[in-house]
Amino acid sequence: MSEGARTIRKAVCPGSYDPATNGHLDIIGRAARIFDHVIIGVVDQPVRKQKTLFTAEERAGFIERATADLDNVEVMVFSTLLVGFARENGATTIVKGLRAISDFEYEFEMNQLNRKLDPGIESAYVMASPEYSFLSSTGVKELATFGGDVSDLVPVEVATALSERMKR
Ligand code: ADP
Repeated sequence: MSEGARTIRKAVCPGSYDPATNGHLDIIGRAARIFDHVIIGVVDQPVRKQKTLFTAEERAGFIERATADLDNVEVMVFSTLLVGFARENGATTIVKGLRAISDFEYEFEMNQLNRKLDPGIESAYVMASPEYSFLSSTGVKELATFGGDVSDLVPVEVATALSERMKR
């Protein structure tokens, strides 16, 4: 097959991104090197979590501006089934980051469910970089609640927004 006829490989990186952390950016940057195009799928209203701290528009805005330097990455908010969202947007792969054993159990279950729903969509996992393997949005919010310094853990804009939000 000639290079011109090659299929564009698209992936979705789904998450609540409440808010985006440097751990998310690490996974997205690495996915963007593997795939031709990466869609960051921001879940509108996550089922697994309580009400989000930031609105879907705010969460999408943070991650959009933090990935503005990556030409093959776009951000979309979605509120439907993940495999359906992937298929509608021409993505054949779901990329997720894996931190610890705890992530594995949940991801293993979701993998089986998604495969049952749509065997044509494959899931792939990128291992967290050691410096971010402890980092979660929940942890960042907890730190910020008690006035901890999160500037090394999240994009600058997110650190500012977190301290503003916590003042209220
Ligand atoms: P969180 O679990 O931090 O609330 P999300 O629900 O937004 O994050 O997760 C989006 C994706 O990013 C998931 O695949 C999650 O495993 C991954 N992820 C989150 N934080 C990290 C990290 N520090 N390193 C690697 N992957 C991560």
